[in-house]
Amino acid sequence: MVIGGGAAGLMAAGRAAECGAQIVLLEKMGQTGRKIGISGKGRCNLTNSAGLTEFISHFGKNGKFLRHSFNSFFTDDLVVFFENKGLPVETERGGRIFPRSGRALDVVRVLNQWLTHQNVSVKKESPVTSITVQDNRVTGVICNRKRLSCDTVILATGGKSYPRTGSTGDGYRLATELGHSLTPLRPALVPLECRDKRVTRLAGLTLRNTNVRLYIDDKRKSQEFGEITFTTTGVSGSVALTLSGMAVDCLKGADRISLSIDLKPGLSDKQLANRLIRDFEKRGGEPVDSLLRGLMPYQLVDICLESCGIPLDIDTSAFPAKMRKKLAVWLKNFHFDISGFRGFNEAIITAGGVRLKEINPKTMESKLIKGLFIVGELLDIQADTGGYNLQAAFSTGWLAGSSQS
Ligand SMILES: Cc1cc2nc3c(=O)[nH]c(=O)nc-3n(C[C@H](O)[C@H](O)[C@H](O)COP(=O)(O)OP(=O)(O)OC[C@H]3O[C@@H](n4cnc5c(N)ncnc54)[C@H](O)[C@@H]3O)c2cc1C
Repeated sequence: MVIGGGAAGLMAAGRAAECGAQIVLLEKMGQTGRKIGISGKGRCNLTNSAGLTEFISHFGKNGKFLRHSFNSFFTDDLVVFFENKGLPVETERGGRIFPRSGRALDVVRVLNQWLTHQNVSVKKESPVTSITVQDNRVTGVICNRKRLSCDTVILATGGKSYPRTGSTGDGYRLATELGHSLTPLRPALVPLECRDKRVTRLAGLTLRNTNVRLYIDDKRKSQEFGEITFTTTGVSGSVALTLSGMAVDCLKGADRISLSIDLKPGLSDKQLANRLIRDFEKRGGEPVDSLLRGLMPYQLVDICLESCGIPLDIDTSAFPAKMRKKLAVWLKNFHFDISGFRGFNEAIITAGGVRLKEINPKTMESKLIKGLFIVGELLDIQADTGGYNLQAAFSTGWLAGSSQS
């Protein structure tokens, strides 16, 4: 019995059937793979071309748990898996691998077709409310108030983020009822909140190719290069989501958390200073706001003038050197405070989960209950954006499925 038809559950079910097991997949929603369907902005970033060591490093200290899963089914295997089923993929910037069709729903379709081909019985609208156990062995599940017997359960109910996809965190309860313990659950890869009106006024603006630094109590702790998007409540986009992991963990204990955006990462301080001198020489006499529009998106001009204390009616043909230096510092250092983070509804993944020391990494079987396998995001594994999370779900699902032969 496989509980949950997401990335991990679909892979586990198909693989277990391929290995000769008779499989029933119980999915709570009316469709399987709803989260896959919205992943990667509807394009599904399936995995990443990074080598094993780098790949594992994207999971932080718990990454090593995945070594066996990745040894049994890694990026190349996943690519071959989909290509053999008529879904070619392509690699984009940062090693991100997507279906060439650009459609996440194609991934779901291919997985569903594979399950049909493997004679997996997929039961939709079938929420499991408990797993029954006798003498520490799985004996069945309760689903829609009925008891269904089985000797093996692969629990693949996902985390608790984006609950409208069906991932409402049921697996945490099902696992703890059987004696498993959890590390603290928190939203991860989640937009950050900012109370600063100057920043929320920028809602809708996306900055690409920026370098963003995270400061905890005014000490630089991390930095990321890429895209940041301003929202009505703060910031999102790949860079903000990646930095959110550390920010969320520190928000309780720290006095001040802030982000600093380098709007000119391609220029050194000296190069930028020279560029400004040239611009002011060439365009001196133009209104300052028009001149600044050549240096930044127009939405940032007001906030720049305000932050640097530059009057709108300043004569740019006699622009004071002191002010020009201030402008250069601001362009490399647009700094604002972070006040919090959004909830599970907007988090890409759930950090924390079933403690890894309670799971055998070579099979994904529970060390506490015989016949219980736990896979996917329900476990205490979480990675950066880039296709790592889906690969972990597919690989742990594959390994649990393979363990049924
Ligand atoms: C908006 C968004 C975009 C993302 N984009 C990417 C991306 O591009 N690349 C990437 O690597 N990762 C991405 N992720 C993360 C990735 O989708 C997840 O890590 C992955 O789907 C986890 O797989 P899973 O099978 O463990 O859980 P899920 O995919 O969440 O599947 C769990 C399934 O279990 C079912 N279920 C829950 N409770 C029960 C129950 N009691 N009984 C029966 N069934 C139940 C659910 O309905 C669901 O179908 C994204 C996540 C989000 C929210």
